[in-house]
Amino acid sequence: MGSKREATGQAQRVYTRALELAQMLIAVPSYNPPGNERVIAEVVRDVLRPSEIEATLVPLDKDRCSLVARLKGRRRGSLVLCGHLDTVKAEESKWSTPPLKPHIQSGRLYGLGAADMKSGVALMLALAMELAEQRLLPPNDLVLLLTADEEVGYRGAASVAKSGLVDDAQMLLVLEPTGCEAYGGQKGELWLRAEFDGREAHGSIPECGVNAISLAVRLMETIETAVAELQPVPGRGRTDTPRVPRRLNYVDATVARAAAGC
Ligand SMILES: [Zn+2]
Repeated sequence: MGSKREATGQAQRVYTRALELAQMLIAVPSYNPPGNERVIAEVVRDVLRPSEIEATLVPLDKDRCSLVARLKGRRRGSLVLCGHLDTVKAEESKWSTPPLKPHIQSGRLYGLGAADMKSGVALMLALAMELAEQRLLPPNDLVLLLTADEEVGYRGAASVAKSGLVDDAQMLLVLEPTGCEAYGGQKGELWLRAEFDGREAHGSIPECGVNAISLAVRLMETIETAVAELQPVPGRGRTDTPRVPRRLNYVDATVARAAAGC
């Protein structure tokens, strides 16, 4: 009975601290682009320090870095809790309140990154701090891995992987928001940039020309047909039609001339 009460107290402490930390992190801008995650990484490092959790900043670019912190466990190997420090850019005109001013309304936390994923990061920090402060040794090392550049190119994750700091990982949990469902993987992603060259031809001999836009359309149709045949993977979702710019406002001169067919 005593231990149950203790566990309830611990859970309450972790919850309360996670909520405070989430609000603190939301107020630190880390839009990507440009990212500049160094500021928020240093905030996290300073948050962990009083709990005697040492954090290493893993540099990426100027003003950008990821963070790795480790809590010693009883045995070799590690469980990695993973999150990212950056957020997408806020389109402020679409917000009813300032995105960097967190607020709680009807039991919900609002602010940029409240879902994706400063709350997840805050929970990781709160859990590790509770373990450290209560001198609770986890079975294996507990590693906190907070990456830069998740929203654009995943380069922060790649640089941490190369750093050797998580080479002993036995399991990795990503605390992205998934509606409280556990998933066993994630879709891949391919960023493709393609350029098409047509061939100009005089209006009297259009059959000698090649329309670059037609070539681009053919590629898109081929990709969409291939994607439509992919089956959903349970627990991972389904690979979907490629994302394209919302609006095309630039047409390469070659494309335009070829499209004109003259
Ligand atoms: Zn995310």
